[in-house]
Amino acid sequence: MDKNHFDVIVLGGGPAGLTAGIYLGRSKAKTLILDTGMPGGQMVLTYEIANYPGVENISGYQLSSVMKKQAKNFGCVVKPNVKLASLHLEGPNKEVKLENGDTFTAHAMILATGGRPRMLNVPGENEFKGRGISYCATCDGDFFQDKEIVVVGGGNSALEEAVALTKYASKVTILHEFDHFQAFEHAVEEAKANKKIDYIMEAHITGFYGDESLRGIQYKNLKTGETHKKSIDGVFIFIGYEANTQALQNGPVKLNKWNEIITDENLQTNLEGVFAAGDCRAKRYRQITTAVSDGTIAALNALNFIQK
Ligand SMILES: Cc1cc2nc3c(=O)[nH]c(=O)nc-3n(C[C@H](O)[C@H](O)[C@H](O)COP(=O)(O)OP(=O)(O)OC[C@H]3O[C@@H](n4cnc5c(N)ncnc54)[C@H](O)[C@@H]3O)c2cc1C
Repeated sequence: MDKNHFDVIVLGGGPAGLTAGIYLGRSKAKTLILDTGMPGGQMVLTYEIANYPGVENISGYQLSSVMKKQAKNFGCVVKPNVKLASLHLEGPNKEVKLENGDTFTAHAMILATGGRPRMLNVPGENEFKGRGISYCATCDGDFFQDKEIVVVGGGNSALEEAVALTKYASKVTILHEFDHFQAFEHAVEEAKANKKIDYIMEAHITGFYGDESLRGIQYKNLKTGETHKKSIDGVFIFIGYEANTQALQNGPVKLNKWNEIITDENLQTNLEGVFAAGDCRAKRYRQITTAVSDGTIAALNALNFIQK
């Protein structure tokens, strides 16, 4: 039997892809999980997860490790850090080619490529990325011990990560474009109760400045139109996500206008035998629980498909 032929190939090893792997592997389907980064996905970027049922206050890294171990224990082959060369998704034989020449085929495919943090796209952002600008509190929070930082955004991630960052920073200023937050009430209350957190509301960052490292931001007050400068040691940006569907943007999988994958309620895409799960698909709520749910549904429907 061809060792590179699988029942199902899962693209992406975040919570959606790993859950799909757990269900597929446990059903004895020969499963390959390919990830262009490290399995765990955005969970690895999360300092503390307090809303995953059954585990209290686990770190994103720990939860990822357990999910990956479960998928491997059920027989999934997990390949991290792969570089995709091409995808062939039409017809009964799906194929993935890697840049190193490896080629894998399968009867069914689950796309679980997740999302990535959205950038502000203002001058200086690329220059100071990794030199004062970060998109991940877990990864970079401890570089800002006793420093002053700004958190950009007003959703759940921004407020929760701002609170997490007060463990390191001497002061955290949340800068948000509206006069109110979009986060859930409990996240807003927790941030407001934290004495280290301050606010700049109704403002936009217009640029970053510094030398070898970030030294400050320029921002515009959206009510008065005035521009200000603020010296700062670091900036964390949490303004939403974009789907990781670059590999699909020239078809044949149908995407919506935000480049998210369109599925039916069985999480099947417009192509037979190709399913999508998690943050890469068009849906309203993007959480670990919803990714895990998608992974389950996609795996069960993929199993049903290959059994036919
Ligand atoms: C800072 C932050 C804090 C968060 N906090 C919480 C929280 O407290 N609770 C909660 O429930 N949710 C939280 N979320 C959201 C949650 O992490 C996501 O909704 C969830 O991880 C989505 O899972 P996923 O498997 O769909 O995608 P992802 O987690 O994005 O995983 C996708 C995986 O696919 C890989 N990949 C990308 N492109 C390709 C490709 N072309 N081929 C193969 N692999 C590819 C990526 O490397 C990644 O490993 C947070 C997110 C962030 C960024």
